[in-house]
Amino acid sequence: MVLIPIGTSYTAQLEGSSLKEVCCEQCRCEYVYVAARSGSGHGLAPLFMFQEAAESSAEKAAYQRLQKELAKAVDIAPCPRCSRVQGFMIRAKRLKIMQGAAVTAFVFLAPVLLFAAFGVGKSVLPDTLSRVAVGVLFEAGLVAAIGGALAFLFNPNAGRLFPFTRKAIQPTMTVEDFQAHQESEHQREQQELAERAEQIRQNQEKMEAENAAKRERAKARKEEEARKLAERAKRSI
Ligand SMILES: [Zn+2]
Repeated sequence: MVLIPIGTSYTAQLEGSSLKEVCCEQCRCEYVYVAARSGSGHGLAPLFMFQEAAESSAEKAAYQRLQKELAKAVDIAPCPRCSRVQGFMIRAKRLKIMQGAAVTAFVFLAPVLLFAAFGVGKSVLPDTLSRVAVGVLFEAGLVAAIGGALAFLFNPNAGRLFPFTRKAIQPTMTVEDFQAHQESEHQREQQELAERAEQIRQNQEKMEAENAAKRERAKARKEEEARKLAERAKRSI
């Protein structure tokens, strides 16, 4: 077999975060959390041409993907005042569990089909098509049942985080605290900037003083030389 290269493919990976604002359904507290996501994109340069274009199209695709992911991002972010995890967050995570189950069912479809086709359970069901149908139904039913049970089990407001872990819980902050935090950050930055500007000013002053001293010394040296020259001239007359 001879491998014929058809081009170069590029993959770009971008990470980003977005601030999400929530109004608590239980205590009406307004709070924020940061949702972080990543996005990847691909680009293909056919026959090794247009490599730059392929790279930039990979980056563009990754950026668009990231924006989309950030826009629809929903995390488990409990209210900082009453600890309530909002209904829409629970629904989003349950949907994720069911999607995971669907993917799992799809992945296990191939082995189920193979087992059925190669005669596993032939003694009970001699017809291959029936075995495949029963196998697929059984597998899909089993995975759906497990997914459904997990989705039902997941209820963070009752202390049941499984199948997620504590790591999935995002830290939250009331809007007032967030604004105060932003304000103090801003003040700290301003102070740092002022300190840096003062440092620059002091350095400049020091440099200027040193330069002035150097100039003074050079001037004195020149005057001394001129005096000596004049003396020598006077003596030679
Ligand atoms: Zn609340």
